[in-house]
Amino acid sequence: MAEKTAEVTMDKLVSLCKRRGFVFQSSEIYGGLSSAWDYGPMGVELKKNIQNFWWKEMTQLHENIVGLDAAIMMHPKVWEASGHVANFSDPLVDCKECKNRFRADHIDLSAPCPVCGNSGTFTEPRQFNLMFQTHLGPVKDDKNIVYLRPETAQGIFVNFRNVVQTSRVKIPFGIAQVGKAFRNEIVTKNFIFRTCEFEQMEMQFFVKPGSDDEWFNYWREQRMGYYKKLGIRSDRLRWHQHGSDELAHYAKDAYDIEYFFPMGWQELEGVHNRTDFDLGRHQEFSGKDQTYLEDQTKERYVPYVIETSAGLTRSVLMVLSDAYEEEQLEDGDVRTVMHFHPAIAPITVAILPLVKKDGIAELAKEIEADLREDFNVFYDQSGAIGRRYRRQDEGGTPYCVTVDYDSKEDGTVTLRFRDSMEQVRVHRNELAARIRKEIKEYKRV
Ligand code: ATP
Repeated sequence: MAEKTAEVTMDKLVSLCKRRGFVFQSSEIYGGLSSAWDYGPMGVELKKNIQNFWWKEMTQLHENIVGLDAAIMMHPKVWEASGHVANFSDPLVDCKECKNRFRADHIDLSAPCPVCGNSGTFTEPRQFNLMFQTHLGPVKDDKNIVYLRPETAQGIFVNFRNVVQTSRVKIPFGIAQVGKAFRNEIVTKNFIFRTCEFEQMEMQFFVKPGSDDEWFNYWREQRMGYYKKLGIRSDRLRWHQHGSDELAHYAKDAYDIEYFFPMGWQELEGVHNRTDFDLGRHQEFSGKDQTYLEDQTKERYVPYVIETSAGLTRSVLMVLSDAYEEEQLEDGDVRTVMHFHPAIAPITVAILPLVKKDGIAELAKEIEADLREDFNVFYDQSGAIGRRYRRQDEGGTPYCVTVDYDSKEDGTVTLRFRDSMEQVRVHRNELAARIRKEIKEYKRV
């Protein structure tokens, strides 16, 4: 069995992501844009797979959750109602000497500036709104200000009535959405952890007031269960309950799921009891009724909302951190391996002909074509087989299929498992079913 060597660091992740085409610095040829990142061929597959895994978990596996895809730009009144125009701000201070800017709640204002070391040089804290603004239409005028949404949730709230009227959903039910969100974050560091443009996976669950505590507990359990299902190591996940100083003014209770990232414990997802604040505020600001009429009891009420709000791009970083391992092999070699759950690995199966000649490559191509319909397949015929395995390990490909001379004789191929490096012989006709079974029963060792 291989032994684990070093801990993952952010530098190692950034370097692997660049080398293997997961994540690139945005506009790199122009020197890059601060805190903006692009997802390369491997990264886009990983991100989409995580999104699909979440979507299936939240919609297909819950009969009472439907999907939505709302616009990024919304009526500006939405953000007044939601409280973002008035309250979505961070307190900022500037160092008068070096002009660097900090979040007042992130540094000790009585200590010297962490950049230039001068003392007593900070300006008074000022509130800085995190929403990006632009103008809709050709005229730059206060009347046509629009914001890039800082969260996807409001698109769900303002469509509550549309969904009730068109989807035959009954309370309790949820609406799920995945999409971009934008925040003019002052401190963006730690790679893709905190960026100004990011993606969220949010689900708002509408319940009858009084049943909210029960549903809140239900969703906490569900969401932690989801990360375990995704194969994330349990000892790297924990709960953090918001104290009274952190709790949003409208929230009755809030917990974060935290992950042990290379820089320490940080928020991954929030599970919040948002009460009837959101629908209540939209009712007030729009003048449109947001109540729900219960068929059986004829009771009418503004529903409470339990929210589960996860970052998709932040999940990519979490999955990368959790998957990374350097192993000392018995032959003295060190292999870097990404232990992605096979359901989200960018490449599921690599097809590797042992040699190119004697019809082996042609046979491997045939097997590749057979599997392509069902799996994300990658064909590689160049280099020594050991080197090809290492390349796939580093990209997190859970299964390699090696085609050799015996394959020509009896139709069997070698199926190699990434985590254990074990190999078994499987008939090519049984390959797809076997891989499907392996994905379903996968457990990280
Ligand atoms: P923070 O206090 O760290 O700024 P938050 O508590 O405001 O974050 P939420 O508004 O609850 O975060 O957002 C829900 C989720 O969206 C977070 O758990 C995180 O996964 C993701 N998220 C929020 N802001 C960012 C960002 N700037 N970059 C990447 N992901 C983000």
